[in-house]
Amino acid sequence: MAKHPTPLLDQLEEGPWPSFVSDIRQEIAHRKENPNQVSFQIPADAPEDLLGLLEESYRDRETHWKHGGVVGVFGYGGGVIGRYCDQPEKYPGVAQFHTLRVAQPSGKFYSTSYLRQLCDMWEMRGSGLTNMHGSTGDIVLIGTDTPQLEEVFHDLTHQLKTDLGGSGSNLRTPAACLGRSRCEFACYNTQEVCWHLTQEYQDELHRPAFPYKFKLKFDGCPNGCVAAMARSDLAFVGTWKDDIRMDQEAVRAYIGGEFPPNAGAHASRNWGPFDIEKEVIGRCPTHCMRWDGRNLHIDNKQCVRCMHCINVIPRALRIGTEQGASVLFGAKAPVVHGAQLGSLLLPFIPMEPPYAEVEDLIEKVWNWWADVAKNRERLGETVKRLSLQQLLDATGLPPLPQQIRAPRTNPYMFFRENEVPGGRNRDLKAFRSRHQH
Ligand code: SF4
Ligand code: SF4
Repeated sequence: MAKHPTPLLDQLEEGPWPSFVSDIRQEIAHRKENPNQVSFQIPADAPEDLLGLLEESYRDRETHWKHGGVVGVFGYGGGVIGRYCDQPEKYPGVAQFHTLRVAQPSGKFYSTSYLRQLCDMWEMRGSGLTNMHGSTGDIVLIGTDTPQLEEVFHDLTHQLKTDLGGSGSNLRTPAACLGRSRCEFACYNTQEVCWHLTQEYQDELHRPAFPYKFKLKFDGCPNGCVAAMARSDLAFVGTWKDDIRMDQEAVRAYIGGEFPPNAGAHASRNWGPFDIEKEVIGRCPTHCMRWDGRNLHIDNKQCVRCMHCINVIPRALRIGTEQGASVLFGAKAPVVHGAQLGSLLLPFIPMEPPYAEVEDLIEKVWNWWADVAKNRERLGETVKRLSLQQLLDATGLPPLPQQIRAPRTNPYMFFRENEVPGGRNRDLKAFRSRHQH
């Protein structure tokens, strides 16, 4: 019999979709069936108390979690998110129920033995409940009490050889798609650069000194498997400078039905014969493709590297050879100004070790943002408030025509002193005569 009645939560288990309530109940059942399997270090019925408290929140339409102080592990300023409930007598299992963020491996490659060790450790020292993964990419360990924090940290670092992730106003755990380890579309080694910068910026990751959170994400191509351009303050999205590589024989093989399109995905459904006009050329966002009956033509100057055509006929079209990344800034989920997608900061940056250019750019952005941002203001919000011009000035990047939203309507021109020969004491007459037509 359930410890707490949960009529409202029960409704969340109806319907065909997966339910986190069912997941929690699975853990409750597992703990009851195996009471002696591990020596639980927090109350074994913590997941039941969690459901009871959540039911009260649904009924009262307000949260019953409260902030009761900063918790963490020695030497780190982030990685632990303190949670206390406001009814500890009624729900002792979740009186303290802190969350830990654990750094995910680059590309999220795990061995089963690692996952088993992690789950066994968490079964013993916490609620047994995890979230794979949080939106930063971290493994999230949900719910333990304060005395267990150092113990978990010790087990993570000594036995599992892994680290806490970021939380609070610091660099969040950088995330990368699986890139060249498995994907032919990767324009750079996402996992290597992610690993390199994670090591390089340990201080920024573990000691919050920023105005607010800052996320770095690395997508190997514009398919965006870690959604860098939607979810990171600085997004590195793989791209190429030269032409899409084409194999006309293979194009004809797709048209002739020899190769299944979309790499054979959806083979269980009959989509009819492949139609290159309809499925590739007609869907090119810049209409820069043409089929002359024998050969496919691409006006590469107009191509925006959206990946659509390459995704559909990957054996015929390949990314170019001059590879690197575009840098976008300012994506975030809604808090102050609503959700924002990233905007282009730099069209192309080489992504080669030792990544000096990448680090230089990141640090220029951080230095400017740390100086001018308000407390709890994401990079995209700072730029919205102060202008993209200021970010470009701080990074030394030239403005691009594509960064202008609308032609200017103000006929007055203002120059800064350093833009005018002679500065403050310039000879205005001579200056005007040089600039008037
Ligand atoms: Fe492959 Fe591109 Fe996805 Fe990375 S983002 S895994 S390169 S498709
Ligand atoms: Fe068109 Fe996108 Fe293919 Fe470029 S990558 S040619 S924009 S469909």
